[in-house]
Amino acid sequence: MYYTKDTILFLNGKFIKAVDAHTDLYSQTLHYGFGAFEGIRAYQTMNGAKIFKAHDHFERLKKSCALVGIPFQYETEELVQIAYQLLNKNNLSDAYIRPLVYCGSNMILTPPQEVYLMMCAWEWDKYHGDKMLKLCVSSYQRPNPNSLKMEAKVTGHYVNSILATSEAKVRGYDDALMLDMNGYVAEAPGANFFLEKDGVLHTPALGHILPGITRQTVLNICRELEIPLVERNIKVEELESADSAFLCGTAAEIAGIESIDAKPFQKEWRDSLGVTIQEGYRCQVLEKSFSYVII
Ligand code: PMP
Repeated sequence: MYYTKDTILFLNGKFIKAVDAHTDLYSQTLHYGFGAFEGIRAYQTMNGAKIFKAHDHFERLKKSCALVGIPFQYETEELVQIAYQLLNKNNLSDAYIRPLVYCGSNMILTPPQEVYLMMCAWEWDKYHGDKMLKLCVSSYQRPNPNSLKMEAKVTGHYVNSILATSEAKVRGYDDALMLDMNGYVAEAPGANFFLEKDGVLHTPALGHILPGITRQTVLNICRELEIPLVERNIKVEELESADSAFLCGTAAEIAGIESIDAKPFQKEWRDSLGVTIQEGYRCQVLEKSFSYVII
C-alpha cells in the first residue's frame, strides 16, 4: 500500500528504491521513539503539483528536532526541493509526503551523534474518507506538557495516539477525542478540534496540543471570511450543547463530526460553519480563489 518495487525514496542524500533501503536496527528512534517527522500533502492544482504549506511543515520539522535536541542540519529550502524531486521521481501529484528524521545506533538516553533523513511519498485518500465521524471521549489523556514537548511532532508521542485510536475502534467509534491533563478538550489522536456554538467557532488554545498547520490555516480562513473564532479552554460538558464540530489536519483535511459519545450534533453538516471552512480549505489547497465561498 505504501510502496511497490518501483517506489523511490530519499535517504541521506540519495534517491534510491524503497526496496533497497536499509536502516540500523540499533537506531535510538526504533528503541526509544526518539525521532521527528512530518505529514505533508501535495495537490494537483491548476498551477501543477503543489505542496501545501511546504515551508511551514519543514520549519516545524526543524523546530521539533531543536526542541528535543536532535541535531538536524538541513535548510528548509533544501527540504522543499527534495520533496518536489521525490514527487517527480515517483510521478506523484496528489500525494502524502512523510519526512522522518531518525537517529543512529545509540542505546543510552543521551542525544544521538548520527542523525539521518528519510523522505517518502505515497497516494493517500483523506484519513477518514468523506464520512461524518462518530467520536468518543478517550480514556487516554494527551501527554502532560511538563513531560513532553507538545509542540514537537516526535515519533514516540504517537504511542499515546495509537492507544486512543485503538480504544475508540474497539468501542465501535471512528476515532477518539482526547482531553488534556486538566480535563479540557485537547485534540484527536492525529488532528485538531473545532466546535461551533451560536455562530462562533471555538478551538482549544495552544499548550496541550500539536499546533497544527491546518488549524492555523482554519484560523486564517476565519479571519478572511470574518467568521468569529475563539481559542480557549473548552470544557467537556460544552460538547453536548455545541451546534456542530469538525477535526482538521493534513491527513484528515476538514472532517465533519456527526456525534461524540453517541450524542449527535443538532445542526446538519451542510448548514454548519464547518462546511464553509471545508470549502475554503479545498480552495486554498487547490490554489483556487475562494471569493465564491458564501457564508
Ligand atoms: N494533532 C496531532 C496529534 C497530529 O498528529 C496532527 C497531524 N500532524 C495534527 C494535530 C494536525 O496537524 P497538521 O494540521 O499540521 O497536520
